Amino acid sequence: MNAQIIDGKHQASLLNQKTKTDVEILVAKHGFAPSLAVVLVGHDPASEVYVRNKVRTAKEIGINSLEYLLPADIAQTELEAKITELSQNPQIDGILVQLPLPEGLNAEKVIELIDPQKDVDGLSEISIGKLALGKLGLRACTPLGVVILAKTALGNNLSGKNVVVIGRSNLVGKPVAFLFLQENCTVTIAHSKTENLPQICKTADILVAAVGQPNMVKADWVKAGACVIDVGINRVAIENSPKTKLVGDVDFEEAKDIAGFITPVPGGVGPMTIACLMANTVMAAKLRRNI
Ligand code: NDP
Repeated sequence: MNAQIIDGKHQASLLNQKTKTDVEILVAKHGFAPSLAVVLVGHDPASEVYVRNKVRTAKEIGINSLEYLLPADIAQTELEAKITELSQNPQIDGILVQLPLPEGLNAEKVIELIDPQKDVDGLSEISIGKLALGKLGLRACTPLGVVILAKTALGNNLSGKNVVVIGRSNLVGKPVAFLFLQENCTVTIAHSKTENLPQICKTADILVAAVGQPNMVKADWVKAGACVIDVGINRVAIENSPKTKLVGDVDFEEAKDIAGFITPVPGGVGPMTIACLMANTVMAAKLRRNI
């Protein structure tokens, strides 16, 4: 194995420590701790775990977290009324609606009702627009985590690096690409219609896989010494066992012998997503109050 493992858990804990200090300063100097509203609709098991982790991390950091557990059969209008109420509540600094919403609910409409100043998930049209225009704003959490991990490996100056992002979703691929562009990287966005994908990937100094296909990226797609960031979270069966395990979009066992740096799954991008949500909540609290 040549690659250095990028320890997402460790980086997340460093970021959380910094955010905790920021909260302590807000409390000492300005007399308040930021408040985060976490909205969970229904009982999707994975979403319940994510929400529990977010609420627990917020508590550890000193952020007030308010949980709103809503029934899966809630009407769209009722959910929208709840989000509008939270958006208008001056006590709340950040609103996170855990996705995906149960079938029948329109997530896009719900996200657009979040006050952009409280959009700590960074997924609203205004937040993505500000990102695309390079304006100050709240950045989507997973993409932000990806860039922080790349900087952990390669240093803060990513200028001129060739980045290939596989995936063009609004949630991950597109915002990741804009963030690297802002870092003065040369960015290629690949997707399911891209031709010669392995060859394109092999040009990357930083290769980001955000596809949702287990172990898709093989060793011969990776340039020697590249920094490989695996966003994928795929649950697959374990051979000869009733159990399952999580794997990424990158064939870790193969790619680790070629890459210079690589994120594991789990323990790579995942923990950074929550840490970035916490940092965003503090940022939202400051921006709203012009601190
Ligand atoms: P989407 O399904 O929304 O997007 C997948 C993207 O991959 C699409 O742009 C699609 O292309 C592209 N794609 C699919 N198949 C191929 C292929 N064979 N070759 C090239 N491109 C392909 O997924 P998300 O962006 O929401 O998530 C991607 C992965 O990241 C998932 O595994 C998800 O679980 C994980 N994830 C992890 C997070 C974390 O915190 N670690 C947070 C969010 C997501 P096209 O547009 O042409 O269809």
